[in-house]
Amino acid sequence: MDIYLATGNTHKAEEFGRMFAQARLAVKVRSAKDLGGMPYVEEITGTFNGNCRLKANALREITPQKAWVLADDSGLCCDALQGGPGVDSAIYAGVGATDAQNRAKLLEAMKKAPLHKRGARFECHLILLGPNQEVGKFVGQCWGKILEAEVGTEGFGYDSLFVPANHEKTFGQLSSKEKDKISHRAKAFVQLVAWMKENSLA
Ligand code: IMP
Repeated sequence: MDIYLATGNTHKAEEFGRMFAQARLAVKVRSAKDLGGMPYVEEITGTFNGNCRLKANALREITPQKAWVLADDSGLCCDALQGGPGVDSAIYAGVGATDAQNRAKLLEAMKKAPLHKRGARFECHLILLGPNQEVGKFVGQCWGKILEAEVGTEGFGYDSLFVPANHEKTFGQLSSKEKDKISHRAKAFVQLVAWMKENSLA
């Protein structure tokens, strides 16, 4: 079966591509790029789940009939910022902001937060649309803390600021293989794979 990924973020698409390959499912992962790009979606619902559904339905409009669609919405939720930047993670420093600008804004916002208040989690929500309807939703979280300065150059987004629990290194220092074992996206993906296997879909 073909599954179209409802994301315009090449880093996320690469992570999903790796995870699908690793899971050895009988699935052909197709990119929104094959359809001319991910349609623009105004992420206005205020929740990861709601925004995820908006993306899934937007891509559904342009996929071939009977295709499956997998959408994700994710972000970083910091205790000291009452869960922020949360659903606004991608546009924290403004619409069109770069990852570096978003990280700089986060460091500034957390400047006064002491070590014990630097807890944070990445969250990933997935929605799977079958040929006729929404068939599954899955959530993964990865807990950790935010450093006071960037360390590492791997990954994207806030990776160089985030140290996952029980680890010494940031996501920005871990290899993609290591990140894929513990990330919020990987945890949601494991549930998706289990669901697909249970339902004899792959
Ligand atoms: P979305 O594309 O609207 O879901 O926005 C996700 C945003 O959350 C990204 O642009 C990043 O800023 C952040 N984010 C999500 N997952 C990760 C990750 O694995 N590492 C670093 N940042 C992430």
